[in-house]
Amino acid sequence: MRCLSICCLVSAFVGLDVQGQEPAERQFDSNGLVEYIPGNLPLIIGAPHGGSLKPPAIKDRTFGVTDQDAGTQEMARMLREAMIKKTGGAPAMVIALIHRSKLDPNREIVEAAQGDPLAEQTWQNWQGFIGKAKARVNERFGVGLYIDLHGQRHPEGRVELGYMISAEKLREGDETLEKASLVVRASSIRELDQRSPANFIELLRGPTSLGGMLQARGYASVPSPDVPAPKENELYFRGGYNTDTHGSRQGGTISALQIECPWVGVRDTHEHRVRFVDALTDILPMWFKTHFGAPLAPRSPSKP
Ligand SMILES: [Zn+2]
Repeated sequence: MRCLSICCLVSAFVGLDVQGQEPAERQFDSNGLVEYIPGNLPLIIGAPHGGSLKPPAIKDRTFGVTDQDAGTQEMARMLREAMIKKTGGAPAMVIALIHRSKLDPNREIVEAAQGDPLAEQTWQNWQGFIGKAKARVNERFGVGLYIDLHGQRHPEGRVELGYMISAEKLREGDETLEKASLVVRASSIRELDQRSPANFIELLRGPTSLGGMLQARGYASVPSPDVPAPKENELYFRGGYNTDTHGSRQGGTISALQIECPWVGVRDTHEHRVRFVDALTDILPMWFKTHFGAPLAPRSPSKP
């Protein structure tokens, strides 16, 4: 009986791990400052600002933002686990374990590493892992999504979704924006716009947009049907280096977006983090199916 319980436990654990056919192999960069877990879904989650390691061998950054996005590393890990349960497949994950006071992996290398050789190497490793994850997604699916997960404490308290479109551009009316092909081409979801059966406005802030689906779950979001754009005096992040570099703005079939989580109601307690991750876990497969036209389901190399 005792053996049976242990066997059940073991098979349950292995079962969860091999649902997507391949056990995940956690990897670390040479300095143990970046973690990468390969996946088998067309989804990659990056958490560049949730790290807490401050190696003395790397000098402190002296300009730019140096604050940690509290809770985002934990939320990225929770999201990965929840997606495994929901879809049977695992998103790839790239986590910066290093604190932002030593390296900002969401900036170009000069501001990111500020001339420190070890920080520069760590930045390259971060970029290298995302590149690896993207190559794997491309090989298996030919298309995919990169999410850069962040936290902010803007007084508006909304989830800010960044597609590399400025607040000024978002404030333009639907008709103007829809016609502005330059805006679409400069966005991190450029390729997704061509693929999605929805028009660009719907994809960006209609009921089936990510903001629309989050709003329906009670999370005020921008852009969304309720808040199509930030007002002139409001704070908003449109997306940073990773969203720009790893989305389809500069070509390719992997689109990207930045999710900026507010503090109150989303990151401030463990319960709120769990609730938000649950909402995202429900929403992402629906959103993916609607706009990518394919299920968010695992695929192994033997079944191309
Ligand atoms: Zn951040």
